[in-house]
Amino acid sequence: MIVQLTSVTKRYGGEVTALRDVTLEIGYGELVAIVGRSGSGKSTMLNMIGTLDRPSGGIVRVGGHDVAKLNDRRLSALRAAAIGFVFQQFHLTPGVPVLDSVADGLVYSGVPARRRRVRATEALERVGLGHRLQHRPHELSGGERQRVAIARAIVGHPSLLLADEPTGNLDSRSGTGVMDLLREFHRGGTTVVVITHDRDIAAGLPRRVEMLDGRVLRDLRERTPAC
Ligand code: ADP
Ligand code: MG
Repeated sequence: MIVQLTSVTKRYGGEVTALRDVTLEIGYGELVAIVGRSGSGKSTMLNMIGTLDRPSGGIVRVGGHDVAKLNDRRLSALRAAAIGFVFQQFHLTPGVPVLDSVADGLVYSGVPARRRRVRATEALERVGLGHRLQHRPHELSGGERQRVAIARAIVGHPSLLLADEPTGNLDSRSGTGVMDLLREFHRGGTTVVVITHDRDIAAGLPRRVEMLDGRVLRDLRERTPAC
């Protein structure tokens, strides 16, 4: 299992309980949707899986490592080596050429600066933006910006790609393009977890984890087609 959450609880400031006793396993190479209405705990769960935040109770394991047993430095190293993130707001630095933004995705992975630019160019080519290397974010469409963000997320060849509402700010055509890219990385062997409140997008994915009030309500898998 690449991800194992065991009885995970997350409280914010003693008042809000965002996750209640969540147990969930995700295997290597899966493509999983996390669905549920606003406030149901989806982003909190993704933050737990991505080791961006620590649980109030329970155990989070990523790649077999119990996250609670890693200090901040080892946690950052795990994140840099194994996990890529894509968010609804693209989080690209204004005014910075996209090649540099993507190359910066490798700063914590020990790749030398010149090699980072080569790898960033390859990543941008993979998302279909090899002709936009020197563009600034404001010179790109929303769909193109999100593809830059995906290039930055995959430039380090993570085994786990986490996307929180990656199509939330896009028109349906750009959204389809983004989902096609995520599927392509999944076919290439990456484990992909996508949060979406879009029922149509979720319906097209082989596994759907439905959240309600901080709990997993349902965990549905597509039947393996008979051969
Ligand atoms: P979703 O992504 O499904 O919309 P979230 O995981 O963002 O849900 O939030 C779950 C609950 O936790 C909500 O009630 C939200 O208001 C609360 N919450 C999320 N983040 C914080 C935070 N940093 N501090 C306090 N409450 C939070
Ligand atoms: Mg959210």
